[in-house]
Amino acid sequence: MSFLIDLECGKCETHFSADVLQNLCPACGKPLLARYDLAAAARSMTPETMAARGSTLWRYREVLPVRDEMHIVSLGEGGTPLLHAGRLGSLLDMAELYIKDESLNPTGSFKARGLCMAVSRAKELGATALAIPSAGNAAGALCAYAARAGLPAFVFMPKDTPAAFVAECRATGASVELVDGLITDCGRIVAERKEHEGWFDVSTLKEPYRVEGKKTMGYELAEQFDGTLPDAILYPAGGGTGMIGMWKAFDEMETLGWIGSERPRMIAVQAEGCRPIVRAFEQGWEDAPEWETAHTLASGLRVPRAVGDFLMLRAIRRSGGCAIAVSDEDMVQGIRILASHEGIFAAPESGATVAALRALLADGRIDRAERIVLFNTGSGHKYVDNFTL
Ligand SMILES: *Cc1c(COP(=O)(O)O)cnc(C)c1O
Repeated sequence: MSFLIDLECGKCETHFSADVLQNLCPACGKPLLARYDLAAAARSMTPETMAARGSTLWRYREVLPVRDEMHIVSLGEGGTPLLHAGRLGSLLDMAELYIKDESLNPTGSFKARGLCMAVSRAKELGATALAIPSAGNAAGALCAYAARAGLPAFVFMPKDTPAAFVAECRATGASVELVDGLITDCGRIVAERKEHEGWFDVSTLKEPYRVEGKKTMGYELAEQFDGTLPDAILYPAGGGTGMIGMWKAFDEMETLGWIGSERPRMIAVQAEGCRPIVRAFEQGWEDAPEWETAHTLASGLRVPRAVGDFLMLRAIRRSGGCAIAVSDEDMVQGIRILASHEGIFAAPESGATVAALRALLADGRIDRAERIVLFNTGSGHKYVDNFTL
C-alpha cells in the first residue's frame, strides 16, 4: 500500500530508517523528508485506479507513509474544493482566479492534513503520547486525531490564543498549557520536557510526516486542474509545511509521469509584524533568522523562526516566486472581501493572501491574465476574538 523507502535529510542528505520514530536529522538537526519508490507507485496510481478511489487524501496512499491501513486515523480530511472565484475575479479583473478552500477540513483548517498523517504514523511506530507547540489550529487538529487514535495529547499555546482553540482542545481531554510567550517558547518547553515525559514531538517539520499530509494539496491541485498547475500559488506561510509539501509533491508527480517540468511560482505571504521569510528572501539569505518582537493577529503567521526556513526559501527561489508581507489592517480587509464576494469566512492568514494578491497585481509581479490560486488555509470562526469587522 505505501511505497515508503526511507527518510532523507533536507540539508545534509543523509538517509535514515523510516520505521522507527524520528524527529530532526540525527546528523545535522534539520528536517527529514520521506522518500518513496515512485516507479513502483506509478504502476498502481494509474488514471483508472485513481478514478475508482474516494476523495479524501488517502487516495494517494502509495505516496503516503502509513504502511498498514489498520493504523490510519481519519476524519475525512482532504478532497477540498477548488473554487473559481468569479466575483473576486471580476473585482480584480482576473478571469482565472481560484480559491483552494482548506477550511472544509476536519477542525476547520489544513492542519488536519498534516496531523492525521503524523498521528497515524506515530501510532503505527508505537508512540504513546503526543506533544505540540501551536498557535491554535495545529493543536485543535492534533487533539482531534489523538482522541480518535486513543492517544494522550499535550498542547502548548501562547496565552493570547483565541478562546475557541483552547476550548476545542480541552473538550478532547487533552492537557492544555497556556504559555506566556510565542510559539517558539512553546516549542522550547516541548523540547525540554519531551524526553522525561515520554512525549513524541509532532512540531512542524520536527517530525517527517506532517509535510507528507500537506503535500496532498499539491496532488489535489494537479487533479483538479486536469493534470496542469496554476501559474502561481499564494500561500500564507508560517512554518511553511504546506509550501514545502506541495513543492515536494510537484517533484514526485513529475517522476510519476502526472505532470511535466512546469512549476507554479510559490509565493509566501507573511505579516508585516512577523516576516522572517520575506526578509531572508529580500536579503538573498539561505536561512531566515528569528524575527524579534513578532506580532500579528494572524496567529498561524506568528512564527518568528521556522526549522524548514531553507526549504521554503529554496522552493520560492527555484520556482521564480517571491515573499511578501501585508499589514494586519489589510488582512482584515481581505477577510471582508473574501466573505462579501465569495461567501467564504476566512482566517486572517487567508485574508492576507487577498491583500498580497492586490499588491502583486499593482506592482506587476502577477499579471491579471494568469491562473492564480489563493489558499484559504482555515476558517475565520475560531479567530473572532482577534478582530472586529
Ligand atoms: C498554521 C497555519 C498557517 C501556516 O501554515 P504553515 O504550513 O505552517 O506555513 C496558515 N494559515 C492557517 C489558518 C494556519 O493555521
